Amino acid sequence: MFSFGKLLTLGLMIGAVVLIYRWHRRFEEFRATRARARAAEVGPQRAIEDMVKCRACGVYVPARGAGDCGYADCPYRR
Ligand SMILES: [Zn+2]
Repeated sequence: MFSFGKLLTLGLMIGAVVLIYRWHRRFEEFRATRARARAAEVGPQRAIEDMVKCRACGVYVPARGAGDCGYADCPYRR
């Protein structure tokens, strides 16, 4: 019925499953830590800005802080 060889094989299989589970959990923790570190590096997401169409060239520029596009009649000339 239960030979020593079979019990040893079963024990090794259970041990392998436990080891794989631990490695997997450690890997998931590592990935979560890395993701948090990257998110901290990038910083909070910038707010969504309204865009307005430049009358001179037709390019959409941010409503606040738009720069000169180079056209003579650019409304955002400085
Ligand atoms: Zn323009």
